[in-house]
Amino acid sequence: MTPVVIVGGGISGLSTAYYLNRAGVPFTLIEKANHLGGVIRTETVNNCLIEGGPDSFLTQKPWALELIRDLGIASQVMGSNDDERETFIWKDSQLVPLPEGLQFLIPTRLGAMLGTPLVGWGTKIKMGLEYFRRPAPAVGERSVSEFVRDHYGQEAVDYIAEPLLAGVYGGDCEKLSINAVLPRFVELETKYGSLTKATLEAMARASGDGDGKAPLFSTLRNGLGYLVEKILDAIAENIQGIRGTVRTLESTPGGFRVKVEDEWIDAEDVVLACEAHAAAAITTQAFPALAADLDAIPYSSSMTVAVGFDIRDIPRIPKGFGFLVPKVERKRVVACTFVGNKFRNRESENTLLLRCFLGGAADEAILAESDAAVTAIVLAELKEKIGIDLPPLFVRIHRWPRSMAQYTLGHQERVQNIEAMLARTPGLYVAGNAYTGIGIPDCVRMGKAAAQAIIERRNRAASRLP
Ligand SMILES: Cc1cc2nc3c(=O)[nH]c(=O)nc-3n(C[C@H](O)[C@H](O)[C@H](O)COP(=O)(O)OP(=O)(O)OC[C@H]3O[C@@H](n4cnc5c(N)ncnc54)[C@H](O)[C@@H]3O)c2cc1C
Repeated sequence: MTPVVIVGGGISGLSTAYYLNRAGVPFTLIEKANHLGGVIRTETVNNCLIEGGPDSFLTQKPWALELIRDLGIASQVMGSNDDERETFIWKDSQLVPLPEGLQFLIPTRLGAMLGTPLVGWGTKIKMGLEYFRRPAPAVGERSVSEFVRDHYGQEAVDYIAEPLLAGVYGGDCEKLSINAVLPRFVELETKYGSLTKATLEAMARASGDGDGKAPLFSTLRNGLGYLVEKILDAIAENIQGIRGTVRTLESTPGGFRVKVEDEWIDAEDVVLACEAHAAAAITTQAFPALAADLDAIPYSSSMTVAVGFDIRDIPRIPKGFGFLVPKVERKRVVACTFVGNKFRNRESENTLLLRCFLGGAADEAILAESDAAVTAIVLAELKEKIGIDLPPLFVRIHRWPRSMAQYTLGHQERVQNIEAMLARTPGLYVAGNAYTGIGIPDCVRMGKAAAQAIIERRNRAASRLP
């Protein structure tokens, strides 16, 4: 059997590799970096467990958990410590808790909204009146800002939607498409009119199911790097791994040939599990129209900065999961996680571990700053926002250039075009965060779907043999 070539050894490519391996389909995995796992990077510094990239995944989306179960490591899953799930927003030089009952960005508790200093009375009244919105026919594509402004007002964009989405996407709410980023919200609007009413009804139904207690985020006790390790263990016997950059691909009578550095490799199927801009560079010669749509998916760059402090020198330890800084109040830090509050086992004794997130669409320039400059920026903002004015025990910086796809206006159409072109090119697949979901579970889903499509194609071909 001609092997499958998988381009990219992040979680998307590794998921394809895992499911192909399980079905006995040979594959070659090509990765340009000297590390597998892509943006997943777990390290131990001063006995603290540090995630340089993602730190968890949404429990609600099943695909990462399914892979974890398939790997036999379900006992390693741990939930976020939701007893302490409080998030703060930096406003007017203080940390204001996000009001209780906020379901992502939909307010569901009137009392909590009335009491919060996060938004003014005009916004509170608009939020209350939103409940009485009538179902309306679907309108054209809108930005996240437009959509939220329409329902809850500009302050809800500035102090709720923007900081929440900047923390997840590193994106710009004025450019992100609500239809691509939060399609469920658009469905709710069409069906119910009011998002608040729809969410309250859904919550009432869910309380009857008795499953309302699942933690919002899950991770693995030893960090997400353990997931990468276990996939590699599972495929170790059969993996054909190549360290190199895939430059281009060509169609051949039997499928494709892929150029890795200066060498050509034949393949019946190719899975482009790299960033969309990398997939565009690879396909530009053979499939220019496909490459143009892939290249039109913008990416943002980001940076995580883990900082450890000696807890014995800190009079007051922060509460909650961390804080978000809205764009209207932002200097350079976008968000900060109080790591030990979110996941219990991450800090060593006497260490307070904080993880700051910088960059995003509004501040690509931060990636070019030196480690010393970044450290100074982060320490100054931690002093300002949570009052920690100490030399750190350690600082660990991870830069992620062009790693986070942005689902901007026109995204759904671009993805439909890409899917249509791939459907006309049997044997060529894409997987990754650029298409139908940004998080780890969606990347696993896409990686697995590519493997399943290949397995089915080969089964169909085998059944046609005399
Ligand atoms: C800082 C950060 C925090 C995040 N936090 C979370 C979180 O908490 N929860 C969550 O669910 N998601 C989170 N995400 C998103 C999620 O981690 C990613 O979407 C997902 O891991 C992407 O996986 P991937 O395999 O598609 O891509 P990547 O991990 O980007 O892997 C792509 C791989 O392709 C390789 N490659 C590219 N071009 C070539 C080429 N020409 N030849 C060979 N190899 C190539 C790259 O070197 C890379 O290793 C975060 C992302 C970042 C950057």
